[in-house]
Amino acid sequence: MPHSETRRTFLTHSTAAGVALGLAGSSSAGAAAMTHFICVTCGTQFAASAKEPEACPICRDERQYVGHGGQTWTTLDAYRKTHTNVFAEEEADLHSILPQPKAGIGQRAFVVRTRDGNVLWDCVPPLDAATVAAVKKLGGLAAVAVSHPHYYTTMVEWTHAFGKVPVHIHKNDAQWVMRPDDSVQFWDGETKSLFGGLTLVKTGGHFDGFQVLHWPAGAAGKGVLLSGDQPYVCQDRGWVSFMYSYPNLIPLGPAAIKRVVKSLKPFAFDRLYGAFPGQVVKADAKGVVERSADRYLRMIGGG
Ligand SMILES: [Zn+2]
Ligand SMILES: [Zn+2]
Repeated sequence: MPHSETRRTFLTHSTAAGVALGLAGSSSAGAAAMTHFICVTCGTQFAASAKEPEACPICRDERQYVGHGGQTWTTLDAYRKTHTNVFAEEEADLHSILPQPKAGIGQRAFVVRTRDGNVLWDCVPPLDAATVAAVKKLGGLAAVAVSHPHYYTTMVEWTHAFGKVPVHIHKNDAQWVMRPDDSVQFWDGETKSLFGGLTLVKTGGHFDGFQVLHWPAGAAGKGVLLSGDQPYVCQDRGWVSFMYSYPNLIPLGPAAIKRVVKSLKPFAFDRLYGAFPGQVVKADAKGVVERSADRYLRMIGGG
């Protein structure tokens, strides 16, 4: 995307300027403080800059939208004054983290615990000392993985708070990382095994590098899929759906939907958790995904 390429070049320049500024001492007369600005609408944090970025490429993309009042920015410090992250145990070894009030798109993140270490799945913009303490109480983090750019948010802040553990992102979505960092590791191919039996599966669809997390020990050993936005848990939680854009109601085509289903075929899962509070398919989730794909394909004449 030409726009985001331009953006990244500018940000790299800003980061370099930030380092130079730090070495020179930011208290020198006329030096502007460097800030990691956060887009209010999607919660994405950007590389440090002296001024607010001119636009958010993630919101300008046709899958998102610029806030109705125009582009606005905030910071992590501002969130610390207004937001709290609320933890909830969804099932054994799975804890959700939901900012109150809503931050960014309104999603939750999860801490998935395994005998070999924990993963932060997806991410939320606010991060404060109480959150770090609560995650440490759960055993800390060994890795971070985020389904797609809508939830990248402050993932670099999170990994910095936990010893700079790797952040696993599929390389097809590299262009959407607005705050480059050494901890962000791009993987290639169809699946990536982590520790504790966890696997990242690239499904494509909503984003080219869209990934889900398979947790075989979840649901008492029947398997859990953490899906972010895709498959998307419907209001009738016996069904899921698939969209190119959820806020703008742009459907996915038949080839993409078939690819999502095919990529999940090798994995057993009985339960599925989506990004938003209450989004859970409690049982027979794999059957739900397959039946939902069939229904969708019938409706768009692509079956
Ligand atoms: Zn944005
Ligand atoms: Zn999304």
